[in-house]
Amino acid sequence: MKKSLLNLIFAFAILSLIGCSTTQKNTITHLSTIDAILAGAYDGYVTLGDLTTYGDFGIGTFDRLDGEMILLDGKVFQVKADGKVYTPASTVKTPYASVVQFKKDITTKLPKGIDYSTLKNILAGKASNMNVFCAVKVNGRFTKMKTRSVPAQRKPYPPLTEVTKDQVVFHLKNVSGTIVGFRSPAYVKGIGVPGYHLHFISDDFRSGGHILEFELEEGTAEIDICNRFLMILPEGVHDFSQIDLSIDRSEDVDKAEK
Ligand SMILES: [Zn+2]
Repeated sequence: MKKSLLNLIFAFAILSLIGCSTTQKNTITHLSTIDAILAGAYDGYVTLGDLTTYGDFGIGTFDRLDGEMILLDGKVFQVKADGKVYTPASTVKTPYASVVQFKKDITTKLPKGIDYSTLKNILAGKASNMNVFCAVKVNGRFTKMKTRSVPAQRKPYPPLTEVTKDQVVFHLKNVSGTIVGFRSPAYVKGIGVPGYHLHFISDDFRSGGHILEFELEEGTAEIDICNRFLMILPEGVHDFSQIDLSIDRSEDVDKAEK
């Protein structure tokens, strides 16, 4: 009797260890700063293998700015400028990403026909504290989904506003998939994108990118409210150490990301 109880406790302890990520719940782990990316610090410094120990859900980019990242259910997808979706090796590095161990706090069925700005209004009603972070997941069918991606860059790296002038825009129609991203407080300016930063991956994993606009046919939103924020910055030899991050680049964020 005693032995079986001990075995049960032991098994439970092992199971809870396996289930643990390296971060506490409700923690967004964030690589680099958006201003460093705007200034062209595109060299990856964290492997995807390491990144996914901090979460199973998130967005970002890749070494040399080679496409848009979607991390969904622990799997990394890379939407390159050719419009195709790749599954990069765990040794590939990223210079910028935001991830979380997604655990929904709020679920809401969305009205038919809504667009990006209506979604923002609905989520503001459901998750009204604008001073904490929200991970946002919307699975549904979209009549329109306008996304973009950017091609890998060569040194000397141009600033992001130069790169996005040549961004490739995809006009997806009648596509089922998942919106993956975050709503960040206004005070995150300089570090991340204030407000919404959303990426998309189709259910067949054949299309996606950084979302510019969309129109939802039907879908459900899940929100994970997050009150912890962990930054991991590049160390040692990296452009990050040379950039002047005292400059206000708010206008450039709007140009490059919105
Ligand atoms: Zn993006």
